[in-house]
Amino acid sequence: PPSLILPQEKFLVPVEVCLKPSSTARIDDVRSAVERMLEKRSLSYNDGPIPVPPDEIFLADNVQRICVCDTDEGMHNDNVLLFWQVKPVVHVYQLSEEGPSEEISSDGQTSTFNEWTLPAKEFDGMWESLMYESGLKQRLLRYAASALLFTEKCVDPFLVSWNRIILLHGPPGTGKTSLCKALAQKLSIRFNSRYPLCQLVEVNAHSLFSKWFSESGKLVAKLFQKIQEMVEEESNLVFVLIDEVESLAAARKAALSGSEPSDSIRVVNALLTQMDKLKSSPNVIILTTSNITAAIDIAFVDRADIKAYVGPPTLHARYEILRSCLQELMRTGILSSLQDCTDVTLPNYARAKEWLNAPDSHEAVLLCKKLLESAEACEGMSGRTLRKLPFLAHANLTNHFDCDPIKFLCTMIETAKRERSEL
Ligand code: ADP
Repeated sequence: PPSLILPQEKFLVPVEVCLKPSSTARIDDVRSAVERMLEKRSLSYNDGPIPVPPDEIFLADNVQRICVCDTDEGMHNDNVLLFWQVKPVVHVYQLSEEGPSEEISSDGQTSTFNEWTLPAKEFDGMWESLMYESGLKQRLLRYAASALLFTEKCVDPFLVSWNRIILLHGPPGTGKTSLCKALAQKLSIRFNSRYPLCQLVEVNAHSLFSKWFSESGKLVAKLFQKIQEMVEEESNLVFVLIDEVESLAAARKAALSGSEPSDSIRVVNALLTQMDKLKSSPNVIILTTSNITAAIDIAFVDRADIKAYVGPPTLHARYEILRSCLQELMRTGILSSLQDCTDVTLPNYARAKEWLNAPDSHEAVLLCKKLLESAEACEGMSGRTLRKLPFLAHANLTNHFDCDPIKFLCTMIETAKRERSEL
């Protein structure tokens, strides 16, 4: 019974509430309605959607979905999180459908930066689709949350120092850029009561140096002027994503050795100076990615507080990626669902391993074993290649109308072997 629980034992669970695009309801009203609805609910808490009860007319009219997040943080050894152990923290948001506004460089082709209002429709579901085993996502989220809290509470940076720069490095295709965007999206949802307006500016460092050096200087100036304007409003939260940051270091090195026009060094220096200036603004988070795993010689990267290595997916992550692919192909009817089970949810990795010793009499067990086998066959593949594999496998099917999932996985294992031999 709740009366026996001390308040500090309650576990804070984020509950994200996405409004319908058409909804004009006030966020506070929706939040209160969801809080009331959750008070009445006496079920355990797990990550995933909570259906809106049909008798909640106001919510049914305005809410697209309600999702419980991060419950594994409070669970130890697969325990369940019961409703009275939980204090839900409700975040209500509406996705922006504006799309990116691009800045095109003068060759008319390469875009040098993109800008989004967050949370954006394009990034919906991205966070959930990225699978990492090591608690990387939670670590990034907690780090950014602490940085924003220190700022919010005006902690004196001379006494306690911290910064708001994150560097993700690792081989290409491991989801670094996606993770930066997804993190920005997550934070824009979780912090929307403090920062009602949130923007993401994506700079492709490589494109800045590709051709138009003389243009680049102007572009950098224009870009940072724009960012500075956004940052001046203290209720804005601004994310600056600098992709392929190693190209800055490369451009500088080339310029020093005389093999590149000296314009490029000016551009790099301008960029670094601007970044340094930005760092002092409390409402900016700088996200950087690099495909180079060795040390990157560049001033601001040294000062990044979080440098996380993002590696190729482990067996666990590969299983989860392929599981989500299979699930999607079943949802869309490209593959048939299982005959002997009404619930189409495939077991997660931990459960799948338990099933290894189960008899093969159930189709679900067989499928799950095949899925593990597929994940094993994909060793060494990047997340990007893995997400394409089901498509390639489908194209390799001799009979497109035969949508039996087990046969499909056999073809996928063949495809994976072929892909790996071509790596
Ligand atoms: P990077 O910036 O490291 O080159 P991207 O962010 O461009 O990688 O990733 C490309 C795509 O690969 C992503 O959109 C995502 O679909 C997929 N992907 C990569 N790593 C993973 C992962 N660990 N889990 C799920 N999907 C992944």
